[in-house]
Amino acid sequence: MQKLYPYFLNKKYFIVFLVFLCNSFLSAQLPTNGLDVKHYAFNITLNDDNNIIKGTAIITTDFTENVDKVQLDLVKKNSDGKGMTVLSVTKNNQNLQFSQDAQHLIINDKGILGQENTYTINYEGIPADGLIIGNTKNGDRSFFADNWPNRAHNWIPCNDHLSDKATSEFMVIAPDHYQVVSNGREIEETNLPGNLKLTHWKSEIPLSTKVMAIGVTKFAVNNLGNIGGVPVSAWIFPEDRDNGFKSYEFSKEILKYYIKNIGAFPFEKLANVQSKTIFGGMENASCIFYDENSVTSKDVESLMVHETAHQYFGDNVTEKDWPHLWLSEGFATYMTDLYLENKYGKDSLRSLLKQQRSEVVDFSKKFKKPVVDSSEAKNLMFLLNANSYQKGAWILHMLRRRVGDELFWKSVRSYYETYKGKNATTDDLEKIFEEVSHQNLKTFFHQWLFTSGQPYLKIGLKYDKVTKKETLNIEQKQDTVFEFPLSISFTNGNQTIIKTFNIKNKVTQEDFTISFQPKEIKIDPNVDLLFENFNLE
Ligand SMILES: [Zn+2]
Repeated sequence: MQKLYPYFLNKKYFIVFLVFLCNSFLSAQLPTNGLDVKHYAFNITLNDDNNIIKGTAIITTDFTENVDKVQLDLVKKNSDGKGMTVLSVTKNNQNLQFSQDAQHLIINDKGILGQENTYTINYEGIPADGLIIGNTKNGDRSFFADNWPNRAHNWIPCNDHLSDKATSEFMVIAPDHYQVVSNGREIEETNLPGNLKLTHWKSEIPLSTKVMAIGVTKFAVNNLGNIGGVPVSAWIFPEDRDNGFKSYEFSKEILKYYIKNIGAFPFEKLANVQSKTIFGGMENASCIFYDENSVTSKDVESLMVHETAHQYFGDNVTEKDWPHLWLSEGFATYMTDLYLENKYGKDSLRSLLKQQRSEVVDFSKKFKKPVVDSSEAKNLMFLLNANSYQKGAWILHMLRRRVGDELFWKSVRSYYETYKGKNATTDDLEKIFEEVSHQNLKTFFHQWLFTSGQPYLKIGLKYDKVTKKETLNIEQKQDTVFEFPLSISFTNGNQTIIKTFNIKNKVTQEDFTISFQPKEIKIDPNVDLLFENFNLE
């Protein structure tokens, strides 16, 4: 996903963001409930009179261990009247006893390892979060799911952790002036008595709850075309039709790039949806939700490149747990850098990397945290930070320079092929890169991903005109010593040489000969190292 900042930073959203930072229900850890859900079928009824939703969830689950009670995530109705009340739970048409606590539905039924059970849960209530019911900027009523990271259980009973993927379908009954978009393929659209309409979408590809979604409002829908067998569409608020149809056209070119460089698109279609997500963009699988102002944003192209990358990295190959979020956000950020380099040239990559490097350095001054950060299980919104995005991107960039373009892309494709439809960890990525490149990357991964900070270098250079000898002194001023290549360019008039030094120690001294006296010296001239310069800037 992309935070509203830097795209559309405004106070309203910043306050929303802060509220989430403080919300304790965003805490999460690997689920211990023994569930492995196979399929969700959600029947959801929406209306125009009030914000109460009525739901019937049919949930088929396996068990990874024997359990005495079956526990699903579902937010219970609170003192503000928001949350879900369960009316009944059945299995094989038999009523089961159940109870609710603030965050869970507990069903009195035994789960047996390896045995599949199907539960039918009737419930209703006003969503406290997760399904945003309100008005579009044009004043039309709208309903947009916004499940990331674990807000789905505000409106649907589920195993609300990204490690449990299941196929899913949504059957939405809503007033017939609305259109409904969701994950997967549209199965049915039928007018019902009472000016209602049933719309049925089904995803045959297993998804995490964080990327399941429905979007319901008045839409203008443009079928943009078919790219590599994938129907691409734009779903735009009717008042924004012209702007939206035009700006979301980028989707086709972007999808082509990913199909060529990563592989076949994983999902049934690609719908680009103007929405009320609290984020700048949210990578719901096969129906990306964009902020409602995106249709007139100058940054819409890079936003779409980012969210489309997530269809591969984040949605189809999903990090196994939250500390590995950079496998989503670092990948989406660097894939965007690569796309823009390919389209606009090397200078555009360099300027993006410089910007991203300064964001990483700024963040590291405030927070001493590694990218793979296990300490933030209680505050998932905090993980939407420069470590997950910009530093993740930088690490991929340095990995690319280390193994070379050809092996970099080969490794990325191999990682995608190996883990598509599944979950992966940082170690899994390391193994793939090591297998493909035949390099030992242990130190690289350890220092960049599991250690906080980056090299903070004091660099001294002295030229002796008589001997033509240049003396280089480098001191690593940060706590942990890093290993990295550092390039320096020496220029005089039209003569330039670039020398690369492999730095391994706290202090490095090297002498070398240069036939001319350098007038201009550039540290890291091609922007290939994540570091901070002690002397310059
Ligand atoms: Zn993202």
